[in-house]
Amino acid sequence: MADAGRASRGPRGITVLGATGSIGVSTLDVVARHPDRYRVRALTAHRDVEGLLAQCRRFRPELAVMADAGQAATLADALAGEGIDTRVAGGPEGLLEAAALPDAELVMAAIVGAAGLAPTLAAVRAGKRVLLANKEALVMSGALFMDEVRRHDAVLLPIDSEHNAVFQAMPAGFRPGRTPEGVRRVLLTASGGPFRDTPVEALARVTPDEACAHPNWDMGRKISVDSATMMNKGLEVIEACWLFGLPAEQVQVVLHPQSVIHSMVDYVDGSVVAQLGNPDMRTPIAHALAWPERIDSGVQPLDLVTVGRLDFEAPDPVRFPCLRLAYEAWAAGGTAPALLNAANEVAVAAFLDGMLDFPGIPGVIEDTLAALPPVTADSLDTVLAADREARERARDLVVARQRRSAS
Ligand code: NDP
Repeated sequence: MADAGRASRGPRGITVLGATGSIGVSTLDVVARHPDRYRVRALTAHRDVEGLLAQCRRFRPELAVMADAGQAATLADALAGEGIDTRVAGGPEGLLEAAALPDAELVMAAIVGAAGLAPTLAAVRAGKRVLLANKEALVMSGALFMDEVRRHDAVLLPIDSEHNAVFQAMPAGFRPGRTPEGVRRVLLTASGGPFRDTPVEALARVTPDEACAHPNWDMGRKISVDSATMMNKGLEVIEACWLFGLPAEQVQVVLHPQSVIHSMVDYVDGSVVAQLGNPDMRTPIAHALAWPERIDSGVQPLDLVTVGRLDFEAPDPVRFPCLRLAYEAWAAGGTAPALLNAANEVAVAAFLDGMLDFPGIPGVIEDTLAALPPVTADSLDTVLAADREARERARDLVVARQRRSAS
């Protein structure tokens, strides 16, 4: 679908995949500010029936999907009990239907992790304007994903604050998937997360709640842990390579504790163009919703005098081994990023469940990658097979580590 900005034909339909999550809720907050521009057509959740029910009450979508099919009847009964005529679907088929719904021109892809790959791809294949928060989908299947974007004339707009910032700082007319002219480097900023100054030897004792207490951003638990390990930045490096058509050597990570500069583009003439703002995801969400126009997002204006200073430093490779692992996975190519992503999801879930200590996260990922050589990622089946294999191997490694620490 060629996207020619906002046509004067009433509100545009939007589907929010992962509506009950942190990004989903922020998206609906922005959408609710502009009823003249957007109408919610479909919403999806995994298991949070209460959350999705409340959103259905407010936005009256035509379709609501519980990814956990076992929860769909509960939602349907509750909606019927309140006289709300939203249709309910469940399971993977329901997600695919929501992603490709004809009445929704926009799709926010905000399911967390590999579970978002199939529905995000379905939105791409339906030629939607895809607002991509679900970076894991692109990391897993980059070449295939970008081919599908081109083939189906979908419009891909980055929601990750860093990539959205880079997109805003790119030359006029640039579209994700192309290679920009005159760009020397992309500089991705990173806060360093909650453990930027924690002594490395103390990391073995940090708790999941401490890892999720991000100093600047309020996010879902998985991405919060990814930020603490800096795997989030590693995934973002891979995401940036695909979105901006650059080799990893041209994507550099800079620690910037204030999270005010969201990222920068360094041009060959010496200009460095940055995008700044308060750390609130409603800014990139509003940008992508309205692009190329601008709309109010509800975010407070940035007060640079209060911010006072902006600091920068290089990331410490000993403290943040996940960053190195991501660069290595990109260099290895093929299914290596899918293996990396799957091992990370298993390791993070094990850490959140108290089955793995914090340094065990890079440990499990590194051992998984060492055990499973990547192959050419020539089809979605190959990518999904790599994902399954890495999950199995990573789970075994978690159990082995638990046994070792118990003995
Ligand atoms: P959350 O954990 O807050 O929300 C995840 C959403 O996905 C929820 O709606 C959840 O449903 C749903 N979900 C979870 N598992 C499944 C599944 N197996 N099948 C279908 N749906 C599922 O995540 P975030 O909003 O923090 O992150 C979403 C994505 O956006 C991630 O890829 C993240 O990396 C990316 N992102 C997030 C940022 C942030 O500030 N939060 C910033 C930049 C990128 P339920 O509520 O029912 O569990």
